[in-house]
Amino acid sequence: MALELYNTLTRTKEKFMPLTPHHVGLYTCGPTVYNYPHIGNYRAYVFADLLKRHLEYSGYEVTHVMNLTDVDDKTIKVSQEEGKSLKEFTEFYSKEFFRDLESLHIEKADEYPRATDHINEMVELISTLLDKGYAYKSDDGSIYFSVEKYKDYGQLSHIDTTELKEGASGRIIADEYSKDSVNDFALWKAWDESDGDVFWDTKIGKGRPGWHIECSAMSTKYLGKNFDIHTGGVDLIFPHHENEIAQSTCCTNSSFVNYWLHNEWVLVDGKKMSKSLNNFYRLSDIEKKGISVVAYRYWLLMAQYRTAINFTWEALEAAESALKHLMSLYIQLKDEKGVIQETYKKEFIQYMDNDLDTPRALTVLWEVIKDSTLSDGDKRATIIDFDRVFGLGFKDLKLEPLPDNIIQLVDQRETARKEHNWDEADVLRTAIQKEGYEVKDTDHGPLITPIL
Ligand code: AMP
Ligand code: ZN
Repeated sequence: MALELYNTLTRTKEKFMPLTPHHVGLYTCGPTVYNYPHIGNYRAYVFADLLKRHLEYSGYEVTHVMNLTDVDDKTIKVSQEEGKSLKEFTEFYSKEFFRDLESLHIEKADEYPRATDHINEMVELISTLLDKGYAYKSDDGSIYFSVEKYKDYGQLSHIDTTELKEGASGRIIADEYSKDSVNDFALWKAWDESDGDVFWDTKIGKGRPGWHIECSAMSTKYLGKNFDIHTGGVDLIFPHHENEIAQSTCCTNSSFVNYWLHNEWVLVDGKKMSKSLNNFYRLSDIEKKGISVVAYRYWLLMAQYRTAINFTWEALEAAESALKHLMSLYIQLKDEKGVIQETYKKEFIQYMDNDLDTPRALTVLWEVIKDSTLSDGDKRATIIDFDRVFGLGFKDLKLEPLPDNIIQLVDQRETARKEHNWDEADVLRTAIQKEGYEVKDTDHGPLITPIL
């Protein structure tokens, strides 16, 4: 079976055929850098990472581009409130974002273009749309895309344009009154006082770009006018991705993206986790509870990316226990040579090729670790191979037996526990943690695992 991916454009699972053999152009809508993303947002980036890793595992060379939205209503407003320049403000959150990506084992993209570094490219696109009659300037100088001029509008979201409501078309809602039609969306927002010193003086006027045009400009610049895969969460299907298609297709007269892939929600109590509902958690909340961020990645892998998942602390803790169990079994394997087990590998690929069925692929990993007919070396080789896709970090785990000082501390703690000296036992537990190991008391004695 070859790789099949669910394409939102056709609402079917399709065999993946890249435009250029052995190469994939992949674009992911990145964050708006005005705050810390919540853990729901990170599902979108873990999903893109998983897709990229599986493509690489399957032999493709992937060019991955993820934009950073560093100018919009929110970045301007909050930077002004904090008395910081837009650049200083957005760079702070960009750095935090990159740190988080690393802690989630998300591989670096090839490019992280910032919107403010690509104003010229956006101005060129907008000029072309004006010249071709797809866009118009309103009285205040803002420029809009005329949805009625593009007959295929709605192809991705299957939206009926007659049902569109005012305000649905984008992040820039100011000056909507000056649009010809409520469906039209802003390509360029003319400067007004609320923008302060954030503007660009260009041939199409003084102002700043709309959100949608950013991704059209940056994806095309780095991946060409027609590229393979575009990812994002399901809320981006409309209007963001629908608008990207409209702008890009009308500009270039070419197909834009061949496969549109969207991840489903992380929910809380059945509702989408979001800043506006104030029901969100951040990675720092996970860390504060002493839970590893990699356990969150594992929890995400336990569901296929198109399934909505309900976040609870209990569920995350259960995922962490499972991962720790897996890793403790792994570190106890003898450090010996082995070979990747082809039968298991075939099964693993079959699941991953089926639109990234990670929950089933994970069961194969568990089967490998528990298979008593395999040598330790073979188990290790096979797990390291699968982990090129899962990204859980097996190859960085120490395989050596526990260091002597840890064994000593664990022994002392056991003695303290037998003597009901709980304070002493707690002090020793902290000492063990400081050395990078965790103790869990089980029916079979203490289980020692490295802190991930
Ligand atoms: P935003 O910064 O709002 O553009 O969101 C960044 C990414 O996170 C987008 O791809 C969204 O679709 C995605 N996203 C936002 N909220 C959630 C959620 N609760 N679950 C999964 N993905 C989400
Ligand atoms: Zn985008």
